[in-house]
Amino acid sequence: MTVPILDLSRSFREIKPEVFSALERIFDAQSFILGNEVKTFEAHCDSYLETPEGSCVGCASGTDALLLALMACDIHEGDEVITTPFTFFATSGTIARLGAKPVFADVDPSTYNIDIEQAMSKITPKTKAFLPVHLFGQMCPIEKVIPELNERGIMTIEDTAQAFGATRISDGKLLRAGTLGEVGCFSFFPTKNLGGCGDGGMVTTRNPERAERLRRLRVHGSGTTYYHDEIGINSRLDAIQAAILDIKLQHLEAWNEERRKIAEYYKLLFKANGLNEFITPPSELEGNYHIYHQYVVRVKSKRDELMEYLNSEGFAVRVYYPLPLHLQPCFRYLGHKEGDFPVSEKLAHEVLALPVFPGLKAEEQEALVEKTAAFFKK
Ligand SMILES: *Cc1c(COP(=O)(O)O)cnc(C)c1O
Repeated sequence: MTVPILDLSRSFREIKPEVFSALERIFDAQSFILGNEVKTFEAHCDSYLETPEGSCVGCASGTDALLLALMACDIHEGDEVITTPFTFFATSGTIARLGAKPVFADVDPSTYNIDIEQAMSKITPKTKAFLPVHLFGQMCPIEKVIPELNERGIMTIEDTAQAFGATRISDGKLLRAGTLGEVGCFSFFPTKNLGGCGDGGMVTTRNPERAERLRRLRVHGSGTTYYHDEIGINSRLDAIQAAILDIKLQHLEAWNEERRKIAEYYKLLFKANGLNEFITPPSELEGNYHIYHQYVVRVKSKRDELMEYLNSEGFAVRVYYPLPLHLQPCFRYLGHKEGDFPVSEKLAHEVLALPVFPGLKAEEQEALVEKTAAFFKK
């Protein structure tokens, strides 16, 4: 048996006829960039996320979503942005690209999300924004600090690339990932829970003026064609991506629910196979609806050996992320050293992502967990 880390073809089967008829419609119209397909998808995202009409603005990638959000929040050279070192590179890469300084705070060892208290302790007079990530599909409980941040003039930009559809109940209110801060940033990279057939992204904001600015920034800062109010970038969502994403959006809830069932079953299987002393399953913070973009366990020892063994037996498992951002060569100029963010560093040695995707079969999970048990008990 071989089990991939992700097999998109299984969920694609459900929507293939719809996708092909959308493609035919788009090729007949020969209109490929922005346009009605994108407008329709943006409007459906507003309904899904319960944001005011016009809040969602499609763009070319999740990385661009972050870049556009930072630009629209006036983050410039010398500004400080507080963020996590345990995430995909783009979270900090975009901050640095604008000449601003990523200021790291360590993460919580049970959720892998930024430690909010530590983040708050990093505020200086230069802090302009807070950029938390809802990592692996679980919301970071930022609602607790947003009012204070707002009061201090610090904008919150949410990296929601891995959490389209994640929610959290706090004080009896349902909160949707990406809609709490000044701007939420989404990625539609094909492997994300809502993924296109190429690159794509989106920003969302409840501030109508900021939404207008984001719409201008994605077309070179132009409000009226060929007249430029400010210098923007070229970052547009295309019709094909929008149409496919719009079809997939209708299945997202069912697919996220399926991921949760898979996660629950892994947990049961670890226990049944006596693996609890070797493997710590991911934990869900109270009130959270985790959508398991990744199912990431902690392996207390021999993580690399286990990974090599499972991979050689046909079970694809991966490490997200092997080197925290503060130790990346390109960020050497920030002056960090090993030991600065011990939780992130420990996680980098312990985490292991197991296959989780709509269509993953129970017997595939069972076989993987049995192999894992065989590894530890040999
Ligand atoms: C995928 C991802 C991004 C970047 O999205 P792209 O669409 O690949 O540019 C940013 N942040 C996080 C946390 C991601 O997982």
